[in-house]
Amino acid sequence: MAIETSCDDSCVALLDRYSKDEPPILVHHLKSTLDSKSVGGIVPTKAFVHHQENLASLVRQMCNSYDLYTQPPDLICVTQGPGMPGSLNIGLDTAKGLSVAWNKPLVGVHHMLLHLLVPRMVSNGLKPSFPFYSLLVSGGHTMLVRSDSLLSHQVVCDTIDIAAGDLLDKCGRTLGFRGNMIAKEMDMFIIENHQPIDSSIDLTSINKPLMNKPGRKDVQSFSFSLFNGMVERTLQKNNLKLDTLTPLQRYTISSYIQETIFQHMIDKISISLDSTAHSQFVISGGVSANQTLRSKFEQNFPKFEFFYPDLQFCTDNAVMIGWTGIEMYEQLHYTSELDITPIRKWPLADLVL
Ligand code: AMP
Ligand code: ZN
Repeated sequence: MAIETSCDDSCVALLDRYSKDEPPILVHHLKSTLDSKSVGGIVPTKAFVHHQENLASLVRQMCNSYDLYTQPPDLICVTQGPGMPGSLNIGLDTAKGLSVAWNKPLVGVHHMLLHLLVPRMVSNGLKPSFPFYSLLVSGGHTMLVRSDSLLSHQVVCDTIDIAAGDLLDKCGRTLGFRGNMIAKEMDMFIIENHQPIDSSIDLTSINKPLMNKPGRKDVQSFSFSLFNGMVERTLQKNNLKLDTLTPLQRYTISSYIQETIFQHMIDKISISLDSTAHSQFVISGGVSANQTLRSKFEQNFPKFEFFYPDLQFCTDNAVMIGWTGIEMYEQLHYTSELDITPIRKWPLADLVL
């Protein structure tokens, strides 16, 4: 059984590891997400209450559906960090309780590790094989990681400010999109309204930060915080008001900003990759659900074989906690003590067990 509560999703998953030679079967996954539509961002205290209100019921539902009272799971996996301490605590305490009650081992998992490892689940840990690159691109992170083994991960390119998902959500909001995942709404709009852009709109305010310039040492980092201001300036420069924006105008700006943000990521990754020693590339995290991002990467890095988590596992879920816990338990014989506590900030390079 696996539990995830690091942010605003209360998730419980049950995996059947019936054989070590086959991928586990996903028996069931339950998820309840805090509704933040009206607020436009996640309020930690609201997330804390959301987990308190929902997690235990999800666990009970799972226990009732699969009669776990008479046949408990063999392993309890839970996110230990990084994340919001209050939210993490609810998951950790629940997992500890189950571990004690069922007398089963507990595995506390690093949340970023599971985004790296989840694409290996469908091949039962065979592919991608170490070493490989991963781009974790979510609401909280944008980092290129080189993974050399289960416990050795180096961040080779990171954001100096906010995450790409956060920024895409902000730009979408500025362009009038609403919802729990605004960047997803914007992406759906771009796909559904695919058309030639309005060439009368002046888009010159939108340009890429930290440009790689000849004669200067290239900055090997992402930066996203300026893009939203560029969208605001584009609206002002073109005298466009949100309430009178036509679908073509909204399409023109949203597809252009999305394209520019993805190109910025590609520019920075191009100078950070060692393609002689590596040939496999994972893209995971919520933004990896974006098909434009996927095809841009495949076009720009033709030497690499790409791996993506199943679409339903791009955003946070407990299935990947379960798979990471299984890898750690089986390959490293790793278990956690009952005194583990939430880790708010936990660099991937510090994965000492
Ligand atoms: P995570 O932090 O991994 O849970 O992912 C959530 C982030 O992914 C949010 O910023 C979402 O708006 C973003 N996201 C989800 N689907 C898409 C999509 N199709 N295109 C771009 N961003 C997306
Ligand atoms: Zn995540």
